Amino acid sequence: MTRVGLYPGTFDPIHNGHLDILARAAKLVDKLVIGVAINNEKGPMFSLDERIQMTRREIEPLTRITEIEVIPYESLTIHFAREVGASTLLRGLRAVTDYDYEFQLMAMNQQLDRSIETVFLMADPHHMAVSSNLVKVIARMGGDVTPFVTAAVAADLMKKVRPV
Ligand code: ADP
Repeated sequence: MTRVGLYPGTFDPIHNGHLDILARAAKLVDKLVIGVAINNEKGPMFSLDERIQMTRREIEPLTRITEIEVIPYESLTIHFAREVGASTLLRGLRAVTDYDYEFQLMAMNQQLDRSIETVFLMADPHHMAVSSNLVKVIARMGGDVTPFVTAAVAADLMKKVRPV
C-alpha cells in the first residue's frame, strides 16, 4: 500500500520553513502531494502558475527521496485529499498562534472524513518566524530576504517588487 500525504498551502512564495517541513514529511510517506491552493481571496503576489513553477523547481532535490507531485486545487482541502488518495494531511505548526486555527481545522476535517489523519510537524526553531507574508513585506521594503528563501525565490521576489 502506498502512503500518500497531502501538504496543502498557498506557497506565495515557497520559503525555507515550507522546505524544511517538506524534507521531513518526505521521510514519513511514500508519496507527497503538494496542493497549491488557488486562494484568490488572499490576493497572492504570485499567480497560480508562478507558484506552481517555483514550488516544482524548489522541491526538485527532494524528489530523490520520495515521489512528489505539485497540483493546484480549488476545492475543500479534505475533498482534494480524498481525490489524490491521501491518508494523511500534513501541516506545519509555527507557534501557539497557529494552534487555535489549526486545531479547529483539524477537528472539522476529522468530522468530514475520519479516514484522513492530520499530522502536525513542529517548525524547526530556526524557521519558526518565517512566513510568506513577512517575506513579501521585507521584499517590498527593499530588505534582504535571503535568510528566509532560496536564492532563486529571492530573485523571483526582486523581479516582482522591482520590475526592470
Ligand atoms: P496557508 O495558505 O495555510 O497560510 P502557507 O502556504 O502559508 O499556507 O503554509 C502551508 C503550510 O506550511 C501550513 O501548514 C503552515 O502552517 C506551514 N508553514 C508555514 N510557514 C511555516 C514555517 N515557517 N515553519 C513550518 N511550517 C510552516
